[in-house]
Amino acid sequence: MGAHSQYVALRSLLQKKRELKMVLRIGVVGAGIEGMSTAINIQRQFIDAQVTVIGADFSPRIRGKAGSTNCGAAFIMPEFLAGTPQELQKQWTKATHDHLVKIYYGPDANRLGVNMASGYALFTEIGEISKGPPHWAETLFGWRKATPEEMSVFPEKFLDGWNFGTIVVNPGIYTEYLYDRFRLRGGKIVQRRLESMDEIANDFDVFACSPGLGAFELLKDETMMPMRGQLIAVSAPWVKFFYGYEKDDETLCYIIPRVNDVILGGTFQVGEWDTTLDADITKRILDDCTEIVPSLKHAKIVDEWAGLRPGRPSVRLEYEHRELDSGKKIHVVYNYGHGGAGVTLHWGCGQMAAGFVKDAIEKNGLRSLL
Ligand SMILES: Cc1cc2nc3c(=O)[nH]c(=O)nc-3n(C[C@H](O)[C@H](O)[C@H](O)COP(=O)(O)OP(=O)(O)OC[C@H]3O[C@@H](n4cnc5c(N)ncnc54)[C@H](O)[C@@H]3O)c2cc1C
Repeated sequence: MGAHSQYVALRSLLQKKRELKMVLRIGVVGAGIEGMSTAINIQRQFIDAQVTVIGADFSPRIRGKAGSTNCGAAFIMPEFLAGTPQELQKQWTKATHDHLVKIYYGPDANRLGVNMASGYALFTEIGEISKGPPHWAETLFGWRKATPEEMSVFPEKFLDGWNFGTIVVNPGIYTEYLYDRFRLRGGKIVQRRLESMDEIANDFDVFACSPGLGAFELLKDETMMPMRGQLIAVSAPWVKFFYGYEKDDETLCYIIPRVNDVILGGTFQVGEWDTTLDADITKRILDDCTEIVPSLKHAKIVDEWAGLRPGRPSVRLEYEHRELDSGKKIHVVYNYGHGGAGVTLHWGCGQMAAGFVKDAIEKNGLRSLL
């Protein structure tokens, strides 16, 4: 049987089960990169379940206050995750890196917004951190210290450096692919802003919840914290390497070539909710980036934005039998609070969240609905 006939047969089986109300109904809140990777990994576990994603906003609008997925460069490197156990960071990063490397070496990498770049992390001080290796050194490709010869090409203030290769994603393009892949397997996507989980409590047997910064209001998670980042996208196809360094706690400088542009950044302003562009920051980003790659002064600015990373003391990835305001109890798996590393972790977290959904279904006898 060809792929299309198999798909038609599966659709008609699902339709029959739906009519008999025998299909397990799984609701995923959040249509960002975390919600979509969770939803697709759930589909891989339960091919005959009806999986529905509910999101207030979808890519490419998940930007600024609407969410974070379309804001990132997005560079694969697990940083700014202090409260999340290193073993989990490693596991999630490796799973995501492996998944994206497969896409990169496939025929559609460019179309799906996935590229690979090597480059330099630079340091203005020599210390324990600059000496390395970082905990993710074995996960990404070819981490090593930059040689004195390599360092000699940079401004004198840079005293130390690392060289490594990693995957870079244009999340706007890549998330469109996740939507297509999800729909192709029979997934349903609904646009709706929820004030409370009670609104959909009776619609599903089990839930996954990835509302990003929206967890602050929807789940009353007061540990959520915006981490503002301002970026510029330029056209500079001659820039092939990435570069980055931390100026101070809230001032970053980075240059990251993606499939269709080069991202210049940035900031890391913890607690700042305002996504209005700040012209002084734009100027500072351009000055800092051209100090490292002077030819960027000829690059044309194609876009500029500020977004909010969904910060939390640690990523929340766990199951809860949650009692809602109405008193109804739901089975829910949370997967949110990835801060500045949501793209880096998304596939590994989606796999683990789907595993927790499977456990919840099996342990609570929900499987018997099938
Ligand atoms: C400037 C910047 C640079 C970044 N750079 C990188 C990088 O280089 N590498 C990296 O790994 N990560 C990076 N990130 C972080 C990364 O983008 C995020 O961690 C990731 O996108 C979070 O995805 P998410 O799906 O959890 O949240 P979001 O993308 O915010 O999605 C949340 C979803 O939930 C929905 N939602 C929220 N509330 C409700 C509600 N009440 N009802 C219904 N739906 C709701 C939203 O509409 C949306 O669909 C960066 C982020 C920013 C802002």
